[in-house]
Amino acid sequence: METKKLLEESSRYIMNTYDRLPVVLRKGRGMKVWGSDGKEYLDFAGGVAVNCLGHCHPRVVIAIQKQAQRLLHVSNFYYIEPQIRLAKLLIEHSFADKVFFCNSGAEANEAAIKLARKYAKEHISQNRYEIITAQNSFHGRTLATLTATGQEKFKHGFEPLVPGFRHVPFNDIATIKKAITKDTCAIMLEPIQGEGGVKLPDHNYLKEVRELCNKHNILLILDEVQTGMGRTGKLFAYEHYGITPDIMTIAKGLGGGVPIGAMLATDKVASAFQPGNHATTFGGNPLVCAAAIATIETLLEDGFILDQCNRMGEYLKKGLEHLRTEFPSVIVDIRGLGLLLGMELTRECNSVVKACLNRGVLVNCTAGNVVRFMPPLIVQEKDIDHLIDVLGEALERS
Ligand SMILES: *Cc1c(COP(=O)(O)O)cnc(C)c1O
Repeated sequence: METKKLLEESSRYIMNTYDRLPVVLRKGRGMKVWGSDGKEYLDFAGGVAVNCLGHCHPRVVIAIQKQAQRLLHVSNFYYIEPQIRLAKLLIEHSFADKVFFCNSGAEANEAAIKLARKYAKEHISQNRYEIITAQNSFHGRTLATLTATGQEKFKHGFEPLVPGFRHVPFNDIATIKKAITKDTCAIMLEPIQGEGGVKLPDHNYLKEVRELCNKHNILLILDEVQTGMGRTGKLFAYEHYGITPDIMTIAKGLGGGVPIGAMLATDKVASAFQPGNHATTFGGNPLVCAAAIATIETLLEDGFILDQCNRMGEYLKKGLEHLRTEFPSVIVDIRGLGLLLGMELTRECNSVVKACLNRGVLVNCTAGNVVRFMPPLIVQEKDIDHLIDVLGEALERS
């Protein structure tokens, strides 16, 4: 009864932008969440790659409690200690020299687009503003990041869009080469396409893109909003491909559950931003930075969690491959890196998601027919065994 009332009030008071499953989640610990009716769920959707340490990780919770008692918010007119500490941590563990903090993935990409345009105009030519992105990509829902996104379904009804974006097929170096003009200022890519259906590039693709960028004096922007923060088994996905970008964006897992995003760049590129060029009221707020510091410190401690991510990623992949041999007419592909995995079906996957939900397991469906797994990086073998059992039942019945 109470759940029913909440669902009624939700549709009465909240804009109808999400196609939600009929569950109110109220409490979480580690791999588990509980609904308002008391039902327990194993979370393999992981808040879309946000809950990298699981739900309510004690170190993150304590960091938030401590910071909440000390200072919640001050503006960026002043120096903010947790922001400085977080910046140092990110810089020490990435290619970058400088960071700008914001509140989401889309905002991080907006900042990247603005920085790339400003850098190119100042250092190369006034007309250099065009950004090449990939078809099937996802970069966010603000007007510029929506335009950058290479999927028509998200853009419909919002035209006119932002000028200066051009889309090419992902993982196809020849078409990128052809798309470059004297007006190109940057190439912006996800190292692995997440929303697009967990699509990995060939191993040399990003290296070849990097070489093209160097040759034409173009910036490489990597959108690691989904792949960053240990998701693929390394802290950042670019580390798998033997390259570094000029600009990188992160968000999702960065705060272990609180809303924070960041745009990182080399000193050379970052110097195009001067006081007044870019800002956001909440960016680098003390509370979220304290949560992010606790998240990164926990992620990096002894490399234990990244190891776990790699081992459990392999274990989950094996389980899914086994399912594929049982359901060869339904499952066409298993792919991914670390704990960002996709299982492509020959049909829509919503019914599988619902069947898993009924059996107490949360999984996500993306690109229509790809079941996506993004569990907390602390997932254990017994959780994966349970998921595989439930998926087997769901595939049989749905
Ligand atoms: C989720 C996502 C975004 C958008 O992040 P928001 O926090 O929802 O604005 C951008 N890029 C990628 C690759 C994402 O996965």
